[in-house]
Amino acid sequence: MPPSSPSPAPTTRVMSGGMSRGAFWLMLRRLALFAASAELVYLAVFLALGMPAMALACAVGSATYVVAYVLMGLRWNHTAVVLMWAEVLTQAGVCTVLLGWASGGHYFLLVFLPAVAVSRSPRRALAALIFLLAAYLCLDVLAHRAAPAYALSPASLTTLRWLSIVVVFGMFTYTARFYTRRVQDAEEQLYDMATTDSLTGLWNRRQFLQLTHAEIDRARRHGTPLALVLADIDHFKLVNDQHGHDTGDQVIRHVAGLMRGQARGGDLMGRWGGEEFVALLPMTDGTGALEWSERVRSRVEQTPCRPDGQAVEVTLSLGVCELLAGQTLDHAFKNADAALYAAKNAGRNRVCVAPAALPAQPPAAEVHRQAAAAPGDPRPAPSIAG
Ligand code: GH3
Ligand code: MG
Ligand code: MG
Repeated sequence: MPPSSPSPAPTTRVMSGGMSRGAFWLMLRRLALFAASAELVYLAVFLALGMPAMALACAVGSATYVVAYVLMGLRWNHTAVVLMWAEVLTQAGVCTVLLGWASGGHYFLLVFLPAVAVSRSPRRALAALIFLLAAYLCLDVLAHRAAPAYALSPASLTTLRWLSIVVVFGMFTYTARFYTRRVQDAEEQLYDMATTDSLTGLWNRRQFLQLTHAEIDRARRHGTPLALVLADIDHFKLVNDQHGHDTGDQVIRHVAGLMRGQARGGDLMGRWGGEEFVALLPMTDGTGALEWSERVRSRVEQTPCRPDGQAVEVTLSLGVCELLAGQTLDHAFKNADAALYAAKNAGRNRVCVAPAALPAQPPAAEVHRQAAAAPGDPRPAPSIAG
């Protein structure tokens, strides 16, 4: 995910455990349909070879897979699985014993391996593996102890063998892709959980700081300006007290959405804490960041949150700081925080800027004194003299 585009609220992306189980049964239903279709191809081949009894067995096999498909639709999943295992084992046995090892019927036993590999119970996986190996051994012994019932030409045997190989490869590829996708989904879900704030979909504090360090390095390399903005919802405790915590949550999400709406590609937005947000604006100096913050402030002021149709009006205070060469991130945060504090002290619902050239470790009072109200703000500039 690019750092410039905070993800949407992860709730839209998160794949629940229930959904992944649903996906598993969907995959198995598709495999049942695939197997039913493959049986029809075998049926045609056996008819062409003049073997009606084998063709009939394929028709029964195809019908069995269709029944398994329907059963899974009715949530009779375990009956369907037993039916499919029985059908595959029968088919592998009948083909290998009646047509010979060269027919490749034994390859069908391999389609169980992905299921064995992903089994949650190691004991059951081991039991299934031993069972499959025993079945393979039995088929090998049976096929090589007696001549096959049907003496097919080498060309016919090659056709049947390659048909089996193609079908088994197709099933393997499909199941391997399914499990790979599940792993990728799980990784994506973990990444979302580790990097984004679940309420707002903005970056969480840890990820924001990580991305910020990379952005500072880039700005230093290219000599471009960079600005940091801290924002805090005014009197948010009152929102919780008057409207309840759920409405408070919706207000936080609403303000985050308004901030994200003002972001350009490359801007980083994060949730800093409860009702506090942080933004890093690349290629932006103090003046640009002030203009941006003023736009955000005025959008929040003019756009009430309407959780249940009822308007909840909130305002936002913002502190702006341009990052200077040689300044640490810690120092920049202190300056932005001081500017935010100045905005709160000056009456809230306003933007204050930390002056660009501050000493590396300014005494807090000095920072406050130098913070200035946004230009054009009708309210008086903060008088924060320490
Ligand atoms: P100020 O204008 O000085 O910022 O006042 P305030 O009331 O906004 O600030 P204060 O820090 O006193 O209160 C913040 C409140 O935000 C307190 C806390 O219960 C609430 N809060 C923090 N996180 C959440 C959250 O995730 N959801 C909700 N609904 N409330 C939260
Ligand atoms: Mg706060
Ligand atoms: Mg607040």
